[in-house]
Amino acid sequence: MNDKVKSVVIVGGTHGNELTGIHLVQSWKKNQREKDFSDFSVDYLIANTEARTANKRYLEHDLNRCFKKIDLENPSLNSLEQTRAKEINQLLGPKGAAKTDFILDLHTSTANMQINIVLTRIDPFHLQLAAYLKQQLDNVVITSEIELMDDHHFLESIATRGIVIEVGAIPQGALEYPCFEKTQSAIEVALDFVSYYNHSNNDQVTLPDALDEALDLMSYHSKIVFPVDDSGEICAVVHPDLIGKAYPQIKNGDVLFKGFDGKDILYQGETTHLAFINEAAYYDQKIAMCCCRPARFSLETCLRVD
Ligand SMILES: [Zn+2]
Repeated sequence: MNDKVKSVVIVGGTHGNELTGIHLVQSWKKNQREKDFSDFSVDYLIANTEARTANKRYLEHDLNRCFKKIDLENPSLNSLEQTRAKEINQLLGPKGAAKTDFILDLHTSTANMQINIVLTRIDPFHLQLAAYLKQQLDNVVITSEIELMDDHHFLESIATRGIVIEVGAIPQGALEYPCFEKTQSAIEVALDFVSYYNHSNNDQVTLPDALDEALDLMSYHSKIVFPVDDSGEICAVVHPDLIGKAYPQIKNGDVLFKGFDGKDILYQGETTHLAFINEAAYYDQKIAMCCCRPARFSLETCLRVD
């Protein structure tokens, strides 16, 4: 027997200016979409209501960095978001013994991330779920950190199962139908998978069409910051050739930035792929993009096979 998923929570507005998830959650609630699913409960949560009202990502701390168990248990952490994280942990968790079995946390990106499914766990449930999303939908990219954290800081880490669904490109504080539709499709496919999982006898899920034997994902390994001048101000922009690209490969000598003086600045380093290109949410840290490389995991053993 596998460990059934009995309760699912769909979260929007973990970042207050990512409107797709907020409106999607409200729409599902209004239309009582939870009634479409018979073998598990579906509940909804708008996570950062204050940041949503202010149309900001966050007010004091990025809420999606506040869910390490050690931080949730630390009484001296009491900013607006740190306090809200503790409230959410009581509502959906508590982390480590959560009443919620599966959390879908909805995000958007200003970069062309396609339908980015972020995995913070590599196990049979999550690898098969990711492979099923890739099988059922176009333009799904699975991403993960190269080193998985034991005590992750994401909201979805409250439950033992969870994913981030992050669709882009879309501006902060705006809605567009394609982004809404892609996010909604990803939720529907993920919940279909949960039904198949619940009806399977063990961790190997029985699906109408067999999954590929291995899952290809993109694994983050580093970040690239903007060039700055002597006073620390950004003095170049992401090269126009890279704007709007989804996970392009870049090699030594390719264009990377364009200075305000119009001169090209070239990439120096080993061949890699780029993600979160010109992500608006990362300008506060002067991060211009992230670097990732392909990795392949066996669905049977959950081990890397590339
Ligand atoms: Zn977000």
